[in-house]
Amino acid sequence: MVVVMLPGATPEDVSHVVERVEAVGGEAFVSVGVDRTIIGLVGDIDSFHHLNLRAMRGVAAVYRISVPYKLVSRQHHPDRSTVWVGRPGRQVPIGPATFTFIAGPCAVESPDQTLEAATMARAAGATVLRGGAFKPRTSPYAFQGLGVRGLEILAAVGQSLGLPVVTEVVDPRDVEVVCEHADMLQVGSASMGNSGLLEAVGEAGKPVLLKRGMTATIEEWLMAAEYVAQRGNLEIVLCERGIRTFEPTTRNTLDVSAVPIAQIESHLPVVVDPSHASGRRDLVVPLSRAAIAAGADGLMVDVHPDPEVALCDGPQSLHGPELRALAQAVRQLPPMMGRKPAEPTTVTP
Ligand code: PEP
Ligand code: MN
Repeated sequence: MVVVMLPGATPEDVSHVVERVEAVGGEAFVSVGVDRTIIGLVGDIDSFHHLNLRAMRGVAAVYRISVPYKLVSRQHHPDRSTVWVGRPGRQVPIGPATFTFIAGPCAVESPDQTLEAATMARAAGATVLRGGAFKPRTSPYAFQGLGVRGLEILAAVGQSLGLPVVTEVVDPRDVEVVCEHADMLQVGSASMGNSGLLEAVGEAGKPVLLKRGMTATIEEWLMAAEYVAQRGNLEIVLCERGIRTFEPTTRNTLDVSAVPIAQIESHLPVVVDPSHASGRRDLVVPLSRAAIAAGADGLMVDVHPDPEVALCDGPQSLHGPELRALAQAVRQLPPMMGRKPAEPTTVTP
């Protein structure tokens, strides 16, 4: 941490800062410049926070040098992590050596629709099935998902096709029932800042897919991951799904730079959801190519057997030619980035 003093700060102001830092066990290195004095602090950053240095007389600014997230940071864990999804003996990796394709319906609507969507997803190369049973919709009048019945359908379809399943949990009270049916818990964009939910999924003992909040900075997203990690769960996959900008042509703006930045800052795998980022079927394939080229560890995409009648997010759901084009991109591009397709494996780390 670095404390920058005001040009008019007195030697007493500087001594006061040094005394307070030393009183909590820290060391303070004073550097007197022509106009300003700078004090470098070494020691426990949390105890410095409690000093409220910014409020002390003569202090102009306080800068943090180390990152505020610890457990998910590469400063503390230099090697990139792989998260394994699925039942023991048949798990799909998400990490730096592979490329994981996750696909399925935005929402579970019925057994037939889910089976058809999952069959399409698997044929396109997906090895993890997605599908929402608890849907956090903008409007309370929109389809809210089938709830527990949706979880049962998703689990049954996943089992019949041999695909592990990921599904969203919105309410901390539902974590237990979602865990009974899902292999991975999704925390959605709208819930990213819900610390109670993050703590609950952190204690659930299942891998977590953590979407970036639509108005969250990368640092806020990593702090949300830190909430999960701090409860003992480091099986976290970050998902960039677009952020809200002034551009109305797309639903959100895919922040491609977030992929390498999150991978530089954090050891956690990073996947991209181009469906919710764009809201447009015609953009999903180009954005998927961009995500793969930017080094994403996987993709998560909405598919639907008949998007025209989809109860949720039909305009962005793939079928037919776009899904074939995506399948081709997912087959051809990741090997060019040195990645193998993420197949289910019996090898457990
Ligand atoms: C979803 O993946 O179903 C979803 C609701 O996405 P997001 O949280 O990114 O809006
Ligand atoms: Mn959706």
